[in-house]
Amino acid sequence: MEIQNVGIVGAGQMGNGIAHVFALAGYDVLMTDVSRDALDSALSQIKDNLDRQVSREKISDKDRDAALARIKTTMTLSDLGPCDLIIEAATERETVKAAIFEDIVPHLAPHTILTSNTSSISITRLASRTDRPEKFMGFHFMNPVPIMQLVELIRGIATDDATYQALLKVVENLGKTSASAEDFPAFIVNRILMPMINEAVYTLYEGVGSVKSIDSAMKLGTNHPMGPLELADFIGLDTCLAIMNVLHDGLADTKYRPCPLLTKYVEAGWLGRKSERGFYDYRQDPPAPTR
Ligand code: NAD
Repeated sequence: MEIQNVGIVGAGQMGNGIAHVFALAGYDVLMTDVSRDALDSALSQIKDNLDRQVSREKISDKDRDAALARIKTTMTLSDLGPCDLIIEAATERETVKAAIFEDIVPHLAPHTILTSNTSSISITRLASRTDRPEKFMGFHFMNPVPIMQLVELIRGIATDDATYQALLKVVENLGKTSASAEDFPAFIVNRILMPMINEAVYTLYEGVGSVKSIDSAMKLGTNHPMGPLELADFIGLDTCLAIMNVLHDGLADTKYRPCPLLTKYVEAGWLGRKSERGFYDYRQDPPAPTR
């Protein structure tokens, strides 16, 4: 089937990146959020990121203007009903996502494909809350979306082949590369990445190293481009904690126990870059370690 209109639910850091790459690839994008501020700042973030691509000569002025003209916003979830493809990229909480799917289902066109950008939550369980589990998939973009090449594709138990093939084609049109993962907690990337980040937080919690020494050790000692604590701030500590909880609950293994220090940061509202404070304080330049 032909996909042209794409609806995005949630205009946070992932929603705005997803809107950016779809609009640049020629899709018409309609984005919604419960917060008007989130929609406004998503639009200005997309413009800044497209401007940066123009200044680096990755795209032309014309490409930028055409992409911006293809993105519309609405505060009304049901406006997304007629879209060919819906990508849910709201907060990583199952109750939030389930409510979104339940609210949108009565407004959907029969052909609409529903997807979630969830980092960890069961696709089969989310799909079961809809009227179309066969047209439901995990569509997991990486952060920052305009830069990262990978998209993880996750089929639920009921997902049909036509839906999978349609998304494979979309990934190709975006100029990205897909990897297929089975529907088990946190799929591939986060099943491996999050325990490493959680272990870095335990290393800090137990006093094995400071924020600075842990990040330097992992950057210089394993050739990672970012240290694990810097990366956790970039992802969002609330999202990291939510993923660890899904691993812990879903696999019932104590090795996935979220570090109490990670919980404490989230309880303090120190969520990383998006709240200007996490393992680093971004109100200072350069950002200062908070421990
Ligand atoms: P974020 O906190 O930046 O944005 C979430 C947005 O969802 C906010 O703007 C919020 O207002 C909105 N929202 C909350 N409830 C809503 C509702 N009922 N309807 C519409 N909008 C609603 O979070 P994010 O980092 O963009 O993550 C979004 C999703 O993407 C999560 O499922 C997360 O696991 C996944 N993800 C995140 C990353 C990452 O590195 N941050 C990477 C891949 C996937």
